[in-house]
Amino acid sequence: AAVIVAIDGPAGTGKSSTSKAVAAKLGLGYLDTGAQYRAITWWMVNNGIDADDATAVADASAKPVIVSGTDPSGPTITVDGVDVSGPIRTQEVTSKVSAVSAVPEVRARITELQRSIAAEAPRGIVVEGRDIGTTVLPDADVKVFLTASAEARAARRSGELKGKDAAGLAATQAALAKRDAADSGRKTSPLAKADDAIEVDTTDLTLEQVIECVVTLVEE
Ligand code: C5P
Repeated sequence: AAVIVAIDGPAGTGKSSTSKAVAAKLGLGYLDTGAQYRAITWWMVNNGIDADDATAVADASAKPVIVSGTDPSGPTITVDGVDVSGPIRTQEVTSKVSAVSAVPEVRARITELQRSIAAEAPRGIVVEGRDIGTTVLPDADVKVFLTASAEARAARRSGELKGKDAAGLAATQAALAKRDAADSGRKTSPLAKADDAIEVDTTDLTLEQVIECVVTLVEE
């Protein structure tokens, strides 16, 4: 039977790298749900819709056609047939994604998309996000919740593990804290650990160790 793996946690905990590697090792599909929220946000920005105008965002939420490719060795994302894998990572999209993804109509639509992708994965899939184990796929076979200290997350995000640029690191840490606060303060679908999720603190683990840990959980 197909195996469904939910990997949740905040930014900078190694979610994406871990999820992709686990999927590749186990021959499963891979879905980055943050990329889908970024894609719909990119579309709003591109179509002149104010991310803070929840009514306008809700009204337009059904318009963009978002397609995710689930091969872990080369995941893809398109909006209305346009490859947006680069544009969804800009500062502008990152700063607006929390507001857009807080709109219930947006979440309903993206959640439906995620469930159909998971249901169609022939051997199963690793789905990473914030609310996968709690809301999107509450019956997932394995649920993992990744955490890490604020310092470790900022260091990974800015790629400054050697600690050379203290100011850049502090700025990254502040930006992550701001996005966490926006994500967890939302009424709809805050970042949350499912009761039956296994929490893995990655602060003192290498990426290889985290991957091994999750692979073991799936194989058990
Ligand atoms: O994972 P990533 O940092 O790319 O996610 C971008 C944003 O998308 C998050 O900060 C959050 O606002 C939103 N998101 C969400 N639910 C998910 C995944 C991401 O609301 N399952």
